[in-house]
Amino acid sequence: IRDRLASLGRPKKLFIIVNPYGGKRSGRSIFQNEVLPLIEASGVLYTMQETKHRLHAQEIAHSLDLRKYDGIICVSGDGLMVEVVNGLLQREDWETAIKVPLGIIPAGTGNGMARSLLHAAGEPFSISNAVFAIIRGHKRALDVTSVVQGKTRFFSVLMLTWGLVADVDIESEKYRWMGSARLEFYLLLRMLNLRRYNGRILFVPAPGYEEVGDPVEQTTNGVSTGIQEDGATDSNGETCGYVGPSIKEADLRWRSLNGPFVSVWLGNVPFASEDAMAAPKAEFADGYLDAAIIKDCPRWDVVGLVFQMKDGTYVNSPCVEYFKVKAIRIEPGLRVGSTTKGGIIDSDGEVIARGDDGPHSRAGDEPGHLM
Ligand code: ADP
Ligand code: MG
Repeated sequence: IRDRLASLGRPKKLFIIVNPYGGKRSGRSIFQNEVLPLIEASGVLYTMQETKHRLHAQEIAHSLDLRKYDGIICVSGDGLMVEVVNGLLQREDWETAIKVPLGIIPAGTGNGMARSLLHAAGEPFSISNAVFAIIRGHKRALDVTSVVQGKTRFFSVLMLTWGLVADVDIESEKYRWMGSARLEFYLLLRMLNLRRYNGRILFVPAPGYEEVGDPVEQTTNGVSTGIQEDGATDSNGETCGYVGPSIKEADLRWRSLNGPFVSVWLGNVPFASEDAMAAPKAEFADGYLDAAIIKDCPRWDVVGLVFQMKDGTYVNSPCVEYFKVKAIRIEPGLRVGSTTKGGIIDSDGEVIARGDDGPHSRAGDEPGHLM
């Protein structure tokens, strides 16, 4: 049977990483009761490992003998899969390692990747449909975004966000016991005291979106992005692992949008979570990120937008600017009137920068940007 599986492009042996902590801590039971029976019935072999701590999945992906497996499967939320991507890209053999197929079976709070993949395949969102897609060997290419903040480099496959959604994602961590409901609950809480973030975003628009925002003078060093030029090495001087794309600064035509903003969202895939279509036109591997920016608008309009996020129609609102970018740089600004300073910048659940309310770096000093 296993020879036939291979000829169909199906996996023969999988490495399965289970996060027992994600979501409502049901990863282990989801694996035992809903994944294992289907995997065993299909004749696919597997090795399973539970994660014991944060970044464990990244360590596993960093050292795993990839020749033994046809894919790495995460039974988790989005965060664990992002760890796996980062672990693979830190390897010396990253160029081949990153080609190993990755799969995800939703068992977290944020299951945006699983929802996006099933949606793209025209399948209803369910654990068993995710398992079936993996057993059948469904694959598609996925872009990786390099996120740079000071000396930190992080690789993202889902999203980068600043403002409302970042606050919800990170600050609601204390309500983890609620499961997916924590996001909606905290969103309503935040809505009662809506924050507006001042600052600006600089971006390189995708073809067809060259008219969005205002042009930025190329000659000033206002657009010194710190993006690696050709042949650059990592900050510690070693060329080990992926160091991000090589770009000729001079070739980029930057534009800008000024705040205040309610929410800045950059999506690589359409769904932000199981039921929020934050970037309806996002494609997995078109080479661009979709930007959905909620500008300053009355609180009740924002409430309306949040309800329209289920099907993605919120992007048609005059309060929202929706376009595609090749690169973007976020510059949180100073407090002006009723706007809030700083704010969290969150990429795939990881805090990239924190504003005036946290002990970490001052976001205003070192703007985060991504490419
Ligand atoms: P969720 O969508 O609920 O956030 P994820 O699967 O994305 O679920 O995982 C959330 C976090 O759990 C990740 O940052 C991961 O590093 C961490 N994690 C993994 N295993 C453990 C563990 N055994 N104890 C605590 N945290 C863990
Ligand atoms: Mg894309």
